[in-house]
Amino acid sequence: MEILKLPKVELHLHLDGSVRTKTVSEILNLDIKEVKRKMICDKNTKSLTDYLTKFDLPLEILQTKENLKRITKELLEDLKKENVIYAEIRFAPQLHTKKGLSQEEVVESVISAINEVDSIKCNLILCCMRNDLLNNNINNLKTIKVAEKYYQKKVVALDLAGDEIKFPTSKFIDLFKNTSLPLTIHAGEASNYISIEDAVKMKAKRIGHGINIINNNKLIEELNKKNILLEICPQSNIDTCAITNKKNHPITKLINKIPISINTDNRTVSNITLTKEYEDLINLCNFSIKDLKTCNINAINHAFINEDEKRKLIEIIEDEYKEN
Ligand SMILES: [Zn+2]
Repeated sequence: MEILKLPKVELHLHLDGSVRTKTVSEILNLDIKEVKRKMICDKNTKSLTDYLTKFDLPLEILQTKENLKRITKELLEDLKKENVIYAEIRFAPQLHTKKGLSQEEVVESVISAINEVDSIKCNLILCCMRNDLLNNNINNLKTIKVAEKYYQKKVVALDLAGDEIKFPTSKFIDLFKNTSLPLTIHAGEASNYISIEDAVKMKAKRIGHGINIINNNKLIEELNKKNILLEICPQSNIDTCAITNKKNHPITKLINKIPISINTDNRTVSNITLTKEYEDLINLCNFSIKDLKTCNINAINHAFINEDEKRKLIEIIEDEYKEN
């Protein structure tokens, strides 16, 4: 079975981590080799701090309407190439206001790009940033307002991203208390299971990563009972140094314990596609086509879309995935 051609659903995908190197090279007039060295993780990426520097160049250009639109469209093209049939793309509007755009203008630019591309079904998740705590969450509260304004007009949920060690999830319990938008929270990747417990207290419907739940059976049981999905991004966990070896990734155990989906997180930074993630899971982690199908059905069931939309996507997955 050719993995590339299988239909796929992706729920955890950052715009700024998935910018084509060629585009950065063109816009900033930089040598492509240098751009690749600065944007893609390699053997010299030895810490989360190293990892985070990979976003510097893309964030430098994601500051104008024109570039936001171009890069969104290019990402949709890249998703189409490997038959992603539904994606939820996320970004933090507050990181794109350095040249004077308002958060609203940033979101409008991305929405208009999506509306111009018809070939793939896609929605947006707006990220609040943990380090905005230092700023009394002023930008985060703006993000929540913008998300509410564009809710169901492509924006479907809110997220919390950033350094979960320096700015623990517990500090954000109140941030989302006045919004009714669905939440997915990055938790339990760098930090331990307590971060996941706090995300559950915030009524998150999904957890970004959540891999450090692995030895806590009680919490696994609670997430199952509440039908909370873990958005797992295996290569990203290697690149942020949360995991040392893909073969030993907690996904091999979690697949039988809890609803999970497979995601790339940051396609360029991790030099990864969903196709490559699926192939690695088959070759290194003993995944079957049936496991990949389960992960896609899980993703659809936990996607921030309506039941009718879910049914249509599930039909496509059911048709195309056959155990071999
Ligand atoms: Zn992420």
